[in-house]
Amino acid sequence: MNEPVILQSPAHPISRRDVDPDALRVIFRLHHSGFLAYLTGGAVRDLLLRRPPKDFDVVTDARPGQIRKRFANCYIIGRRFRLAHVRFPDGKTIEVATFRRTISPGLEETQPSEFDPHLLYGTPAEDARRRDLTINALFYDAVRNEVIDYVGGTADLEMKRVRVIGEPGTRYAEDPVRIWRVLRHASRLRFEIDGPTAEAIPAHGGLLSTCPGARLYEELNKDLLLETGPVFDALRKFGLLRKILGRPGEIYEEDGPLYARLRELLLLADQAKAAGEDLSLEDMYALVFWPWLEPLCGEFHPDLAKVLGDALFEAGMRTTIPRTMRANVVQILSLVSQMRRALRTGRWRHSLERLSHYGPASRLFILIDQGRFPEEGESFGPQLAKAFPGGPRLEKRRRRRRRKKRRPPEGFSGPAPSS
Ligand code: ATP
Ligand code: MG
Repeated sequence: MNEPVILQSPAHPISRRDVDPDALRVIFRLHHSGFLAYLTGGAVRDLLLRRPPKDFDVVTDARPGQIRKRFANCYIIGRRFRLAHVRFPDGKTIEVATFRRTISPGLEETQPSEFDPHLLYGTPAEDARRRDLTINALFYDAVRNEVIDYVGGTADLEMKRVRVIGEPGTRYAEDPVRIWRVLRHASRLRFEIDGPTAEAIPAHGGLLSTCPGARLYEELNKDLLLETGPVFDALRKFGLLRKILGRPGEIYEEDGPLYARLRELLLLADQAKAAGEDLSLEDMYALVFWPWLEPLCGEFHPDLAKVLGDALFEAGMRTTIPRTMRANVVQILSLVSQMRRALRTGRWRHSLERLSHYGPASRLFILIDQGRFPEEGESFGPQLAKAFPGGPRLEKRRRRRRRKKRRPPEGFSGPAPSS
């Protein structure tokens, strides 16, 4: 299909007023310089669905150098495929890409093609066809107020259907992350997955574990920052949680009740995010790992943080979770489990309240322990004070250490000193 379907208003609901004014500025400046410039990707899809877009990406036939010349505040990023980032005073960035063509998978990796523009850049039709899903490959021409559809995306939006462009098996083999993207968009939009698009998943799902761990981490973050639960359900249904999360993923796939526990927590978190609550990536990773690590937290360990850290490190995860993120998650989880213990036993050290993770841990404690998102300003401290009005029993660390010092030397077989 070389000729696109063109929808003119009122056959489409988009108005220029719905488009970010800075994205419009970029589009019109490129247009006045004689270039084509369209809004593309998720923004067009969301505008057609009357949902607020997350970001406004622009695509043009201007080359990166030509784009840069037209904007003072423009930075070129990327080595192989160069993109322009146009920055605005409020800190907003509009990403402007040049139309590109599909590159055969072998060429993706080779260096010589790197700066050969003929191999990289393409026509609008080629650019639409190299994209992942038909619903993500639409263009909006803000100058003419038209939607341009080379791939049947508008019909799929109408039918509420997620469909990969081209032969699904080939497109998954080129880039297995597309499988995840199919599941993500179908879950988020509550769309059906088209027959062949779904049928090719089982045979290619295993390829996800061949993707670089850093890329999987980026993908996982996208799901954790927006709605997480339904995507996890879809990944689990296709046996892909284990490809992404290693041991915990495997356990969540095999142990229905444990997954149900995770699902409850994700539902609460998703509801909180939808209501505008700020849940950080650390919070979300902590929730994702909690049901799996909870049995360890229930046992007594003198160095719980180390035990949790080792469990995470040895989980065989394909996704590379950076060390600092893992360390933060471990600190949060070990605080949460100390809070739970404190409410049972009254044992608590006030010095823990000075830790930087105390605030997030306190919120997660209420979510995990009481199955609800905390009210504004609500925290663990008052709950403990209410449960133990006389004050918590302090952990007697120092005394224990001193006692340890008085222990007899090794080999001494006499009676232990009385405590
Ligand atoms: P979101 O609303 O989550 O941002 P999006 O569709 O905009 O969804 P992005 O990750 O921002 O997703 O990608 C922008 C566009 O780039 C997509 O709409 C799609 O056209 C294209 N794209 C992204 N990833 C791939 C991929 N792996 N293969 C082909 N095209 C892709
Ligand atoms: Mg996007």
